[in-house]
Amino acid sequence: MHLVDIGANLTHESFRHDFDAVLQRAIDHGVTRLVVTGASLQGSEQALALAQAHPGRLYATAGVHPHHAMDYDDATDARLRELAREPEVRAVGETGLDYHRNYSPREVQLAAFERQLAIAAELGMPLFLHQRDAHADFLALLGRYRHRVPAVVVHCFTDTGEALRDYLDLDCHIGITGWICDERRGTHLRELVKLVPAGRLMIETDAPYLLPRTVRPQPSHRRNEPMYLKHICEEIARDRGETPEAVAAHSTATAEAFFGLPPARAG
Ligand SMILES: [Zn+2]
Repeated sequence: MHLVDIGANLTHESFRHDFDAVLQRAIDHGVTRLVVTGASLQGSEQALALAQAHPGRLYATAGVHPHHAMDYDDATDARLRELAREPEVRAVGETGLDYHRNYSPREVQLAAFERQLAIAAELGMPLFLHQRDAHADFLALLGRYRHRVPAVVVHCFTDTGEALRDYLDLDCHIGITGWICDERRGTHLRELVKLVPAGRLMIETDAPYLLPRTVRPQPSHRRNEPMYLKHICEEIARDRGETPEAVAAHSTATAEAFFGLPPARAG
């Protein structure tokens, strides 16, 4: 079984002391390719460096998360354009809107989001997007750019059926995290994940966040790792009435096409 973790925050400080072991455990658990999320300018630089150090294994995105939209200035924009042209960088993002926490004011988030949509449009690159409690504004802005970019994934989808339909109508891909393994707040996703066609569904850990609650025993440190991606694959398989092997096969093929990844190599 080959899995692709399309969203892993491997530049997070919690991975600094044992990064090589984390990566080896992921590989041992079938996660043969990982896309390292860039969520700030510095984080995107680090994600690229990791990808360059692990060719064929790690890839990167380059973007500024809505939490950090206040930091987005002309210099950020110029440097992001350079990063996005690096061969290891396979998508623009993480960008989008987050009105749940509102760490940056909404108008600042909207401006930073639009500038990154423009980068993806100009470079013809896929987008790795985040939306929380901001569906209407997000959909309106994305809708204006959708025809100018080759592909879009709404990562860590946790929203309603209406939002899901809106994204599928725009021919977006959907990223599912361990949120779906949470019996307290993820149950609606177990119904909605049936509505995502094979070919539009990808899986991600969002590590070190969102440790799947189906991991037994739960590690005491609570840190999520890419090696737990299989638990997400298995929950999705249960919900869709597919085998885990089938979900692995179609979500991996989808991720390879979306990010332009070469086929997996062994071990
Ligand atoms: Zn996110």
